[in-house]
Amino acid sequence: MNRCLTSAALAIVFAIGLPTISYAQAKPEDPKKEEPKKEEPKKEEGKKEEPKKEEPKKEEPKKDPKVADYERVVKDLERVNGPFPLYLRTKNSKDILLELPEDKLEKIFLIQAAFNTGLDGGFMHAGMPVGAQEVDAFKWRKNENKVWLVRPNLTYRWDKNDNFATGAERSFPEAILGSFSIEASNPEKKLYLVNVTSLFYGQVFRLPEMVAGGLGGAYGLDPEKSGPEKVKGFPEQTVLQMKLHFFSPRGAEPNPFLMLLGLAGENTLEDDRSAPVKVTYTMWYRKEDSGYVPRMSDPRVGYFTSDFFSLDKYLNQDRTTRYINRFNLVKKDPTAKLSEPVKPLVWTIDPSIPEIYRPAVKDGILRWNKAFEALGFKNAVQVQDVPKDDKDYDHADGRYNVIRLSVAPSSPFGAISLFRTDPFTGEILNSSITLDGNLIADLMQEHMRNQASTKVASGRASQVLLRSPGRTQTDDHFLFSTQEQETRHAAANQMAKFGWSYEDCSHANELSNMAVLSWTALQAAPGMKISKEEYVKKFLADCVSHEMGHCLGLRHNFAGSTNLTTDQLADDNLTNEQGISASVMDYTPPNVQAILRGTGNFYMPTIGPYDVWAIKYGYANFSAKTPLAEKFQLAQIASQSGRPGHAFMTDEDADNWNPYAVRFDSAKDPLHYSERVLLAHKRAQDYAVTHLPKRGESYSKRTEVILNSIARSVREARNASRFLGGVVSNRNFRGDAGEKPTLAPVDAATQRQALALITKGFFAQNSFTLPPAVLDKLSLDENGRSWTAPLRDVLGAQQQNLLALLLSATTTDRIAENVYKSGNKGFGLDEHYGTILGNVFAEVGQNKSIVPLRRDLQRFALNALMVQASAPQNAVNEDVRMIASDSLKRLVKRFDAQTKTGDKLDNMTRMHLRDSRDTIQRFLDRGTMSAR
Ligand SMILES: [Zn+2]
Repeated sequence: MNRCLTSAALAIVFAIGLPTISYAQAKPEDPKKEEPKKEEPKKEEGKKEEPKKEEPKKEEPKKDPKVADYERVVKDLERVNGPFPLYLRTKNSKDILLELPEDKLEKIFLIQAAFNTGLDGGFMHAGMPVGAQEVDAFKWRKNENKVWLVRPNLTYRWDKNDNFATGAERSFPEAILGSFSIEASNPEKKLYLVNVTSLFYGQVFRLPEMVAGGLGGAYGLDPEKSGPEKVKGFPEQTVLQMKLHFFSPRGAEPNPFLMLLGLAGENTLEDDRSAPVKVTYTMWYRKEDSGYVPRMSDPRVGYFTSDFFSLDKYLNQDRTTRYINRFNLVKKDPTAKLSEPVKPLVWTIDPSIPEIYRPAVKDGILRWNKAFEALGFKNAVQVQDVPKDDKDYDHADGRYNVIRLSVAPSSPFGAISLFRTDPFTGEILNSSITLDGNLIADLMQEHMRNQASTKVASGRASQVLLRSPGRTQTDDHFLFSTQEQETRHAAANQMAKFGWSYEDCSHANELSNMAVLSWTALQAAPGMKISKEEYVKKFLADCVSHEMGHCLGLRHNFAGSTNLTTDQLADDNLTNEQGISASVMDYTPPNVQAILRGTGNFYMPTIGPYDVWAIKYGYANFSAKTPLAEKFQLAQIASQSGRPGHAFMTDEDADNWNPYAVRFDSAKDPLHYSERVLLAHKRAQDYAVTHLPKRGESYSKRTEVILNSIARSVREARNASRFLGGVVSNRNFRGDAGEKPTLAPVDAATQRQALALITKGFFAQNSFTLPPAVLDKLSLDENGRSWTAPLRDVLGAQQQNLLALLLSATTTDRIAENVYKSGNKGFGLDEHYGTILGNVFAEVGQNKSIVPLRRDLQRFALNALMVQASAPQNAVNEDVRMIASDSLKRLVKRFDAQTKTGDKLDNMTRMHLRDSRDTIQRFLDRGTMSAR
C-alpha cells in the first residue's frame, strides 16, 4: 500500500484493517452521537459485572466439573464486556483472559495498534501505528489445548471453485503468529478462557523490534513494569491501552550508519536505559455485510489502492486487482439532490492543537466539502472538538478520526497522514493527521534556519556524465539531495523491514522553508498587507487540506500546478475559485505573483478542480452491488482526464524527465514562473543585504537569507533543466475528452527558453555576485559549528552540479531521442553543447581576466568533455562523444590564441589558459596513440 511520508513534512499513510467505526464518525449534533454517552453506564456496569451472579442459580449436581472449574477461575476476576469479553487477573499477575465463544473461532477480526505515547525516533511518535502499516486481519484457531492467532493470506486470493484452486492452496499459506493457552473451558456455554496477555506485549506487531531498531540497543520488554492501563468494551469494539516498559542495560546504541547521517543518537528519554511507551489496541470483528462495494482503480485518477494477486485473473497478463482506498460514504436519501450521508466523516481536533490554530485547521479540513457538495452530499465532512462528556477519548483509539500536533525538539516529519483500511476491500476505516509543531515554530521565525546550502561539492558531479545502468536515483536527486533527504531515505529503509512502504512526502516541511523565504521577499513588496499570524494560518490551512486529501485516499498530483498560467496566478478572482493549483495534492510553492505584489492568494485558498473530479471518481454513489457493475460509470468519469484541470501525475512521475510533473514548480508556463521566482529571491537577497541584521542582532540572519535564496534559485534552474530533452507524459486513454499525446517531446523553442534561463542566471560572468560589503560578514550561528563561509566552494558546487545535470548521459540521451522523433529537426545536441560552452568559456578570446569561480567552472567543463570524448563504448550517446571531442579541438585553439594575444590578463588567468591548453593537448595526443 502506498503511504505518503510528508518529510520533515511527511505524510505516511497507512493501511491497517478495521471494519467498522461506530460512532466515531457520527456527526456532533446527530442523535446517534449520544450513543457514547449512553454507553458510559453500560461500560461501568460491564467493568464491574461479575457473571458469577447468574451462575449460582444453575443446579449444582448436574454441573460438569469443567464448568465449575471455569466459573471458579473467573469468579473473582474483573470482567470487561464488549465484542471481546475480557477478564483481568489483577491480583498476582496482570493477565488478560479472553472469553472466546466457540462460534467465534475462525471468524475474521481486526486489530489496530497505535502509539498513545511514543518515542522520538524510528517512526514511533505518538499516534503512529505499531509495526506494519497494514495490520491484516486475524482469526482464532483452536489447536488442541491452545488457540492460535492466524492471519489469512490476503495477498493471494482465490475462490475454492476456481480451476486453479488446488494449486493455489498449496502455494499460499496462512501465517501463524501466536499461540495462547486455554486455561479453562465451559462446555455448557461453549466458551474457552484463553490467556491472551502476550498478544498485547507487542511481538505480533513487531514492537520490540521497532524499539530496539529505532533507538538502537539491547532493549527488552520489562514485564514487571508492563501491563494493561485501561480496558474498555464498546458495543462494537474493545479498546485496550497497555503501558509497556522496555529496558536496555547499556542504554541506546544507535545504528552507526544512521549516526553518520546525523539522524540517530537523538531521543527524548530522560535516561536512555528506560523506554516506556503506551500502546492502544482497538479490536473488532469484521462485518461481512457492511454493504460496502470495493471500487476498482483507474490510472488516470490518483488514489491509494489495496492490491492483491487474484487467481481469477491467472490467465491475464495483469493478475493484480486494485481497489481504491476510500471511506464508505452513502447518501441518506439517494434520490435527493443534496442529502446528508448516512455516516458523515467526522474529524476530532485533538487537544494538542493549540486553540489559536484550530480555526485554520478546521478550515483546511472542511474545504473538502466543496467536492462532496458537487456530488450531492451535504455536510459530508465535519469537525468537532473532543466532546466534553467523552471521558474515553484517546487519540490513538481507532474509533476516531483525529488531527493532532506532536512536539519534539527537531522536526521529525512536518506533517503525516495515516489511514487504515479494511484489508479485504480497501475501505478506509479511520485516519489521522499529525502535524509537527516545528512547522509552526519554523514559520514564526523571521528567517529560515539554514538548510543544506552550505554543503560543499558533493563529488558526484562527474559521475552522471556517463550512463550508469545500476543507479535508480535521478541525476537531479543524486547530485542535489540534501543530508536531510538522505537521512529520511535511510530511516525509511529501516522501516521497510516492518512492512512499511513509503513515499517521500516533504510537502509541509519544504513548503515551510519556502514560506519563510517568501516572507522575507514579502517585506520588500510594495503593497505588503498581511500580518505574520494571518500568513501562518493560511499556510497551515493549506497543509492540513493536503493531508486531508491523503486521509480521503488521494495520492499526490504533481501536474495540478499546470492549470493556470503565471499571469493568471495574479488574478485573485480566478485563484479564489480554482486555487493556485488544480489540486491541493500537488506541492505548490507560495504563489510568487502574490509575493511580488504583497497581497493575494499566497497559498491554496480552496481545493482545486482536479480534487473535485477525483472525489467524484471515488465517492459517487452508483448503488452497484459488485465492483464490476460500476465499471461503465467509472470509465465515463475517468475519460474526462484530458479536460482542463484534470491532469494527474504522481510520485513515480515526479522530478524526472517530464518538466510539468515537478514538485514545487508552478503554472502552465513554469519557465516564466521561474523567472518571477528568481526575481522574488533577488528581492529577498537585496532586502537582507540592506535591512539585515537589525541593530543588536547576529549577522547569521542575513547569511541565512542569502544562502537560502541561492539554494532556492538553483532549484529553479534544476526544474528548468528538465525541459532539456524533456518528454511531456500524459495519462489519457484513446478517445478521452480533450485527449493529448501521451509522450510528446518538448518543443525546440521551449528547450531553448529553458537553457537561456539557466545560462543567463547561473553560467554568466556576473552570476552569483554579492556586494563586497557582505563578503566578510557571512557568519552563521549554527550551534557553534565551525564555518569559514567557503563561498567559492559552496557556489562552485552548485554551478558544477548544474552543468553536470545538463551534460549528463540521461539528459543528452533524451535530447538525441527528441531530435530523432522530431524528424531530425529542432533542438539538437550541437546547439545544446554550443550554447552551454559558449557561456562557460565566454571570456576566452575577450582579453579579460577570469575570476576564480569561473576558472573552476571552466576546468570542470573541460574535464567533463574529456570524460565524454573518451567514453567507453555505449557509455554515452555516440553523438555526444563526437561533439565533446570536436569541442575540445576547437577550445584548444581558442586557449592557445588567447595566451598569445591577451595583454590585459592577470597572472592566474594566464596560467589557467596555458594549463587548460596543455591539458587538452595531452588528452588529444593520447587519442592518436591508443585506439579508443
Ligand atoms: Zn503529501
